[in-house]
Amino acid sequence: MTARIIDGTAIAAQIRAEVKVGVAALVAEKGVTPGLATVLVGDNTGSHKYVSMKRKACAEAGIRSFHTELPATATQAEVLALVQSLGANPDVHGILVQLPLPSQIDEAVILNAVPLEKDVDGFHPLNIGAIAMKGRNPMFAPCTPAGVIELLDRSGTKIDGADAVVLGRSNIVGMPASLLLIQRNATVTICHSRTKDIKGTCRRADILVAAIGRARYVTADMIKPGATVIDVGTNGVDDPTKPGGKRLVGDVDFEAAKEVAGAITPVPGGVGPMTIAMLIVNTLKAARRSAGLPAKAI
Ligand code: NAP
Repeated sequence: MTARIIDGTAIAAQIRAEVKVGVAALVAEKGVTPGLATVLVGDNTGSHKYVSMKRKACAEAGIRSFHTELPATATQAEVLALVQSLGANPDVHGILVQLPLPSQIDEAVILNAVPLEKDVDGFHPLNIGAIAMKGRNPMFAPCTPAGVIELLDRSGTKIDGADAVVLGRSNIVGMPASLLLIQRNATVTICHSRTKDIKGTCRRADILVAAIGRARYVTADMIKPGATVIDVGTNGVDDPTKPGGKRLVGDVDFEAAKEVAGAITPVPGGVGPMTIAMLIVNTLKAARRSAGLPAKAI
């Protein structure tokens, strides 16, 4: 069997187009233009690239961006004051502090200063707590895990009642992805570095989400025939034919896995493009809420 390839680039483009329509409707109905503030501290090349991609996605969707860069020597008080002023600015509906922050700054202090209703990354402990609790209404789903759920939904994978296995339990991917799958009535097993029988556990999964950051860790014999495999991992491996001598691969051995899985995401072009798409979904949600409308954005 050769798996259906879940095209994250195309699905993300579709979501971005839907957000653009939602933004135009909000402007027309309430005169409110969604605004996303990005805060960049220091000169990490990767962070600069991510922030500029996020701002470009905002511009394309009609979302206003407010960008501030502080030097790597910025103090915690300076970053805190900036985040607080953005928190008080009514034109800013979402605040994104690009991580990592320089070592002199306590990340938790800065992230806790982002008001819950502007926490479009969805990492605030109160927000994660609401996702974990039955019947609560979280403000936002964290972007990458929300992208995983969208990929499953839009590729026609049934989540309700499925056996799902999530490899990885990090705060930003594995744990929230597991909670979102439970919310959608999957039966979820979470594997991590101390799990005894990862191979056997994965083989029982109707839905396998790999988020451990180990190149091609998931081999074909770990996949149940017909399963849907979502590969969150992004790992650089040596490839002298590429500029910079590196190539991006996922946590799944894609070429072999696609002969066993029913549907699978590639790397690149799977989960990656979804993270930014879900960020602008969350920004539209935040702006709709601030205008007194139901949060549902797309
Ligand atoms: P992380 O914070 O390093 O967490 C890795 C998790 O995997 C941990 O829970 C760890 O277990 C577990 N793990 C590591 N090695 C393992 C092994 N050999 N067997 C079983 N479990 C193992 O990583 P992350 O931030 O969640 O990111 C995971 C991957 O997703 C990375 O490749 C990252 O680049 C990628 N990512 C992609 C996107 C995107 O937009 N596409 C966004 C975020 C992250 P313990 O908890 O026991 O240590």
